[in-house]
Amino acid sequence: MIIDIVSIFPEYLEPLSLSLVGKAQETGKLTVRVHDLRDWSAAPHHRVDDTPYGGGPGMVMDAPTWGRALDEIAQSCDSKPLLVIPTPSGKVFDQPTARSWVGNQSIVIACARYEGIDSRVSQHYQTRSDWAGVQEVSIGNYVLAGGEAAALVMVETVARLIPGVLGNPESAPDDTFSRADGLLEGSVYTKPPTWRDLEVPPVLLSGNHQAIDQWRAASAEEKTRNLRPDLLP
Ligand code: SAM
Repeated sequence: MIIDIVSIFPEYLEPLSLSLVGKAQETGKLTVRVHDLRDWSAAPHHRVDDTPYGGGPGMVMDAPTWGRALDEIAQSCDSKPLLVIPTPSGKVFDQPTARSWVGNQSIVIACARYEGIDSRVSQHYQTRSDWAGVQEVSIGNYVLAGGEAAALVMVETVARLIPGVLGNPESAPDDTFSRADGLLEGSVYTKPPTWRDLEVPPVLLSGNHQAIDQWRAASAEEKTRNLRPDLLP
């Protein structure tokens, strides 16, 4: 899978060379290409924004610059790219959304700043048969200063789902939001068995795998009841 990310702050995406996503890139499971939007600006001082039609505060990122950038990036993709536009007004990004993206060989993430991107960009790429569609997505009901932090969240979530990326592929189906029972993952512990008078539940030290599975199921249910009762069946 190739993920292209376009931003006016390419340095913001540098953490994608670290940890799991960095490893996925080293092993060729994922390629992340970061582009500076200003490279496609035709304006003096590489400006990429202008005042909003109708007046009002803030600036809007202009459609011609985004159009040039996205068209050129699409030409370097082997398959039709999916255009992802992070925006607080989009559909909330979740585990099923991430799973649905794993089938795409090419994803382009357009990170905005200011008041966002001229709405005609999303409109235009929805009509383009050489693109695999446009998805406007939010990472939560709050407002960030730019789409870069959202892109970091989305790339890491998708990378974990690419076959062969996780060290232990058996751990993913137990994850919160991935379990067949829809519950949160239960509590987890490691050595030492006692820490500041707090004991690990003795059943986890018993070696009785049936009893451990039962305890884990009960722990998942209790945690879900306490923290996310909306997820209970
Ligand atoms: N005025 C815009 C609005 O109310 O929808 C907010 C613009 S915000 C300051 C600038 C950019 O940050 C957005 O265009 C988007 O790229 C990104 N952004 C902000 N919050 C986000 C969120 N919750 N999820 C995804 N992207 C977000």
